[in-house]
Amino acid sequence: WSPSAHLIKRLRQHEPLQPQCGPGTEAYRAVAARFRSWRRNGTKDGVCRYLVLVPYRGLGNRILAAASAFLYAVLTDRVQLLDGNTSMGEIFSCEPFPGTSWLLPQHFPISKLHNLTGDVRESYRNLVQNDSAASLVSRLPYVFVDLDHSCTYHDKLFCCDDERQFLRRAPWLLMRTDGYFVPALFLNPAHQDELDRMFPRKDSVFYLLAHYLFHPTNKVWGLITRFHSSYLRDSDERLGIQVRVFDGDTPFQHILDQILACTSQEHLLPDVVTQEPLRRSMAGARSKAVLTTCLSSWSYENIRWKYWQSATATVEVVSVYQQSHEEHQLSGYTTHDMKAVAEMYLLGMTDKIVTSGWSTFGYVGHGLGGLTPWIMFRPENHTTPYPPCRRAKSMEPCMHGPPFYDCRAKHGADTGKLVPHVQHCEDMSLRLKLVHPE
Ligand code: GDP
Repeated sequence: WSPSAHLIKRLRQHEPLQPQCGPGTEAYRAVAARFRSWRRNGTKDGVCRYLVLVPYRGLGNRILAAASAFLYAVLTDRVQLLDGNTSMGEIFSCEPFPGTSWLLPQHFPISKLHNLTGDVRESYRNLVQNDSAASLVSRLPYVFVDLDHSCTYHDKLFCCDDERQFLRRAPWLLMRTDGYFVPALFLNPAHQDELDRMFPRKDSVFYLLAHYLFHPTNKVWGLITRFHSSYLRDSDERLGIQVRVFDGDTPFQHILDQILACTSQEHLLPDVVTQEPLRRSMAGARSKAVLTTCLSSWSYENIRWKYWQSATATVEVVSVYQQSHEEHQLSGYTTHDMKAVAEMYLLGMTDKIVTSGWSTFGYVGHGLGGLTPWIMFRPENHTTPYPPCRRAKSMEPCMHGPPFYDCRAKHGADTGKLVPHVQHCEDMSLRLKLVHPE
């Protein structure tokens, strides 16, 4: 999955913006000071314009949001800054912007960014309904774009925005989102040609963005590489199984049945024999390492027991490992997030991967590895779904809160049918993902 020459060119053009405009620079101080002492007397168009992302929810959500916002920032020549109230700064180092930072400084004039909603006067929702938005924007300190699940029809018109109309005039764009909104950018006529040139293959967008943007700190790399060398590296084959149990899905027997049915049906794990073979030699047997990730340890223990209790029908050695079982999802705890991101990278270092539908943790794991997953459908009524899983159409993450509007025709539409490379997700039927049409 190599980046196109045009993508590299766009990134090289974008890179100087961060050291020119990022925190700590004269330009940043000047724009931030104007923000602080806002007197509603307008602003001059400056070189430095910013996109402040307010990421929230779990780490998978935050990573997908940061990758999407970065692509939007590149397309619109803005410097991306992340709200610093997350552990992102402790788990990722500041490359590709050495010498500066992508974290919003603590003394940013708006202290409770998380409290902003589309109801504020400065919201895109309000501006897009105002005929004099262009002149109004010049009198506002910032524009707030709300892409939360609860956002409205007018918020989502952002996905059709041709920013030349008025957004370009806003030096500060604040954005709240918890997911991957890249498929919506591919539906926006304002960006389509440029995106086509940047990404001739439409199914490796997250992979390329993530490899450019996210660089785990040395401490996190330590967690990844030590685990990989100890448990995964020397096996003939590695299988990742990412298990995410959403509220209400416990007890978990039906999920265990689903994992076993999926891995057996798709020939990802060998069957076991019922009768103990007589002193079978395992010398030279093929080895398969299974990495499970889950907030608890039951999937790991049950799969491990299956291959300890019984011999494989294929004379393979199956070893099962799990790095952690944190039991509860926490937010803002660095060690917890470090383990989570290490597991996402380790999942990406396997050869084949099974993921839980709806989970952004899983999307990041397979997306980082460039792996097209087998997605397990989300169970309903504590019943193992049939089929238990399905090979995905691409390795791209799914966009959970898509627009249902055709930007060109200017009316509601099934946005999974507008262009061949934006289709419905396997795990969530009305949501959108990028695929590379054959
Ligand atoms: P999603 O909720 O499945 O979409 O994924 P997120 O990553 O956004 O949020 C889930 C959060 O729960 C993670 O960020 C972790 O904090 C925690 N979590 C969930 N599953 C696991 C897991 O398998 N391993 C670890 N270490 N943490 C997990």
